[in-house]
Amino acid sequence: MEKVILITGASRGIGREIAEKLAQKGYQVIANYNKSEEKAQELKKEYSNIDIYKADVSKRQEVQGMVKYIIDKYKKIDVLINNAGISISGLFTEATDEEWNKIINNNLYSVFCTTQEVLSNMIMRKKGCIINISSIWGLVGSSCETIYSVAKAGVDGMTKSLAKELGPSNIRVNSIAPGIIDTDMNANYTVEEIEEIKEEIPLERIGKKTDISKCVEWLIDDEYTTTSASDIPEQYELVAEPDNKEGKMAKEQIVVTYYYQIKKRPYIVNYLEKDTEKVIHTAKKGDELV
Ligand code: NAP
Repeated sequence: MEKVILITGASRGIGREIAEKLAQKGYQVIANYNKSEEKAQELKKEYSNIDIYKADVSKRQEVQGMVKYIIDKYKKIDVLINNAGISISGLFTEATDEEWNKIINNNLYSVFCTTQEVLSNMIMRKKGCIINISSIWGLVGSSCETIYSVAKAGVDGMTKSLAKELGPSNIRVNSIAPGIIDTDMNANYTVEEIEEIKEEIPLERIGKKTDISKCVEWLIDDEYTTTSASDIPEQYELVAEPDNKEGKMAKEQIVVTYYYQIKKRPYIVNYLEKDTEKVIHTAKKGDELV
């Protein structure tokens, strides 16, 4: 029987692209989704070897139901691709506990939980491949996406530790850390912001979903690969250097906050009111620091 592959978060974006590419190669794919029922149904209609399953992977019981369904029907899971994720950006100082829990549960707990549920089958068969989609932000950090970066760094830590723990059971564990990829996740960037981001990328283009699916194909395909515990960073060159500066907007309005210079771009500079520390202005490119 052909390889059975579970992809979490496969209704849209990178996960969907991976599902389609792997289905075209003849694998049996189970495309997990949560909210995008219609999009998942489209996939099922288009590919006879794509099965779909609705489960919120941040909830243990739903993950258990999904894994049981797959094992009952296909008897095994050869490859698990932990792709589902969400991003919420904002100032760290304004982040709520609710946001923390939501981001950590959807990006990190989901990987812990899904991997645990799938592992008993892989360990029993002494065979398996786990690919986690982390993010470049987990490696280099990201202003205004601290919690997301924490979650993704956690995914990378889990990847490396599990690779050591599971290597003796012939299970390979790797992660792919994409830079910015053209999906709904980045839909809220303006055209100008996208242009600025491009300036920071050596190839001066936003990544494509196929950049990631190709990498997944390689990790799955090569029967002889011994790759494990890798973090494969995809197209980036972001080196964030914290550079605290003092700015003055007008009399009495002085602030010190986190001024990150990513290449030539001030990433975020907030001007706070001297006494209240209320944010009175977030600097834009071209604003002058006095
Ligand atoms: P996307 O276009 O927003 O798609 C997210 C997918 O995840 C959707 O299919 C969504 O399913 C699913 N999902 C989210 N929460 C879920 C949950 N609790 N249970 C099940 N499915 C869930 O995002 P994307 O850009 O393809 O991102 C995919 C992965 O790549 C994420 O882990 C993301 O962090 C990572 N990544 C993306 C970029 C980028 O620039 N795009 C860069 C680095 C890393 P429903 O719609 O059905 O709910």
